Amino acid sequence: MNALPHDDLGAAFRAARPQPAVVHLNTAACGRQSDQVLDTVARHARSEAEVGAYVAEQLADGLLQQGRSVLAGLVGMAAADVAFTESASASVRTLLGRWRLPAGTRVGVLPGEYWHNLAALLDRGLVPVVLPADELGRADLAGIERVLREDPPALVHVTLVASHRGVVQPGRELAEVCHAVGVPLVLDVAQALGHVDCDLGADVAYAPARKWLAGPRGVGFLVLRPWITAQLTPVTGPELFDDGGEGVDHARWYESGDAHIAGRVGLVIALGEHLAAGPDRVRRRLAGIGRATRERLDGRGGWAVVEPLDEPTAITTLRPPEGTDVRQTAARLHAEHGVLVAAVGRERARVELTGPVLRVSPHLDATLDDLDTLAKALC
Ligand SMILES: *Cc1c(COP(=O)(O)O)cnc(C)c1O
Repeated sequence: MNALPHDDLGAAFRAARPQPAVVHLNTAACGRQSDQVLDTVARHARSEAEVGAYVAEQLADGLLQQGRSVLAGLVGMAAADVAFTESASASVRTLLGRWRLPAGTRVGVLPGEYWHNLAALLDRGLVPVVLPADELGRADLAGIERVLREDPPALVHVTLVASHRGVVQPGRELAEVCHAVGVPLVLDVAQALGHVDCDLGADVAYAPARKWLAGPRGVGFLVLRPWITAQLTPVTGPELFDDGGEGVDHARWYESGDAHIAGRVGLVIALGEHLAAGPDRVRRRLAGIGRATRERLDGRGGWAVVEPLDEPTAITTLRPPEGTDVRQTAARLHAEHGVLVAAVGRERARVELTGPVLRVSPHLDATLDDLDTLAKALC
């Protein structure tokens, strides 16, 4: 393929942020923030020193509330359902910590579940039950429906797009299957939001700001429906800071008392940029970039692409040729060719990965020349 869809998005994304000093193909680790996001974060921090931090926060309240609405809309929930957190990991720890499910409670997961999510389940004494999937790790809906009908777990936790594999899980169908038997569906959308459709009918969704939304680091969110918070126990009980808690939205109980408010404001700006670009058009261009990446890289220097060519994501992973060290390859690509990609170790998804993979995750501004540079460097 020799053209990508929506080149205007690539040009606008490039023009809106600092010029990269590398061929940046590592969005799945961290996206590149725009000038507007960087400036807004700096301005908020400055305003804290000028007018007082809590006054600055109050002044930003309208903007933050808009951000909650946008964020909630992207996952099909309401502004009142949004808690800002510090990261995806912090979100899942808060969720499981406050759910207080009895030790031994079973939680349905797919074979490719993210290692930290599994660790967080085990840490709470919960028991992951691996649900059926095909050889790519994609949910086997008929098989899952059978398991859920015969012996339903207390909840199902699914990572919509894995960090070690650019495959999209059938989130909408999973939500339907779960709801048919009254089991809540929790989605880790860390690699999915701003990348693929996340408005799928899940009951909980969480992610960090920094990946495909290209927001600041150290900011994340947890979005939960009221019937889920009805099952959680907030640490602070019925009192929330100095406001008692009367009339406070239910998700606020799960936010930190203090936080990187400047970063939250920056996330709101990044969300605005995502909406302005048009989430549908963004998805189409990213899918086109993913396809172009796989076409160019598969078989190069003996590296083998894992994802189907047409998988609608911009994450491509490659299995190394026999005897090639993935970590050393990533370091060499950076040092010798100025190309930034990631080495993903097997620990990331021990059940699913048989060894490390090289992960390539370009954002909207990637060019076919960038992909060709990587393809040549791999040989
Ligand atoms: C990055 C990532 C996380 C963890 O996000 P943090 O914000 O670093 O805690 C969780 N799940 C997936 C799928 C990820 O890619």
